[in-house]
Amino acid sequence: MSQQTNILRQLPIDPLTGSISTPIYQTSTFVQEAPGVHKGFDYARSNNPTRKVLEDLIANLEGGDGGFAFSSGLAAIDAVLKLLKTGDEIVAVDDIYGGTFRTFTHVYEKFGVQIKYVDTSDPTNVLNAITSNTKLVWLESPTNPTLKVSDIEAIGKIAHQHDALLVVDNTFASPALQQPISLGADIIIHSATKYLSGHCDVIAGVVVTKTPKLSEAIKFFQNTSGAILSPFDSWLTIRGIQTLPLRVKQHCKNALKVAQFLEKCPWVDKIYYPGLPSHKNHEIAKVQQKAFGGVVSFSLKEDTPEQAVQFVSSTKLFNLAESLGGVKSLICHPANMTHASVPREKRLSTGIQDSLIRLSVGIEDADDLIQDLQQAFEQLTSANKQAQIFAEF
Ligand SMILES: *Cc1c(COP(=O)(O)O)cnc(C)c1O
Repeated sequence: MSQQTNILRQLPIDPLTGSISTPIYQTSTFVQEAPGVHKGFDYARSNNPTRKVLEDLIANLEGGDGGFAFSSGLAAIDAVLKLLKTGDEIVAVDDIYGGTFRTFTHVYEKFGVQIKYVDTSDPTNVLNAITSNTKLVWLESPTNPTLKVSDIEAIGKIAHQHDALLVVDNTFASPALQQPISLGADIIIHSATKYLSGHCDVIAGVVVTKTPKLSEAIKFFQNTSGAILSPFDSWLTIRGIQTLPLRVKQHCKNALKVAQFLEKCPWVDKIYYPGLPSHKNHEIAKVQQKAFGGVVSFSLKEDTPEQAVQFVSSTKLFNLAESLGGVKSLICHPANMTHASVPREKRLSTGIQDSLIRLSVGIEDADDLIQDLQQAFEQLTSANKQAQIFAEF
């Protein structure tokens, strides 16, 4: 059965009323027949019927034992990190999401957790960094914003040989393109804010666990720390997931066309898209992913922040905003926006050039999107000509 059919088939019809849309159970508590005798719900931090529909759905999509919904992707990440104790180590992908880096550095290092960052696109680097203290190997694949892809299966084997768990932040691929548990991951994280919900209208996070033992642990931290997803935001996320395979197919188709257009552009220097044979991880991406995702990054021949700022300010269909994975196309300038807090030297070392531009390609018509980029490039040229004329005077 296709993933799209599977999603729609398994969403339950409300047994009380026949409502085809999952009801929003906006309640804090549940009346009990006798002390401790209830229908599986006692207090809505611990469990909520709307949230449970989402949690079962995402667990099924990722092929995991349990699913857990949180108030943001970072809350989901925080719940996973609570598995650790002082003295434990994490080996993490070097161009990790900025918010995860901030949590690692400013919260968990303070509690004595050590983090080693390596280029995980070569599994040997993980092997060299891992020690008997390593409890988690932390991947994002593809990464943000240079779309680095890591071999999940190979790294899973290395992690397990050293009694460490493999955590995969699957936000960029989504389960429509890649199911890390089937490749050996133990825990999956999503910022459901992105492709899962898909419409830029909710902040949400999920964790999916491979084993009942991990499910029990994450459930404990979800209930204990309490950063749960609200019933309404759970409902929005369920609604988004209903079209996930359909949307992602269009995102990927459009992104490939946009990347192919950029490849031929005289204004463009480097292009990062795992679907292009020129991308350094194209081969592993082909094996590991069903398609290559909706995010494309590129740098300009004239590699200055000013050029990038001018470009991102002159597109009309690509909206200037952080985030990704929504139906509307977005454009951002990482050096000034998502990665502004990363020192320039570190940015440059992970490929984030001054002029790097990241596109979250939406589901508009690809030709319209390409035309929008073309006109923005042409504006760059005419502005440059003007600048030259002024310089001559
Ligand atoms: C956005 C994002 C997060 C954080 O998720 P929030 O929902 O914003 O808290 C984590 N990882 C990746 C890869 C992301 O893109």
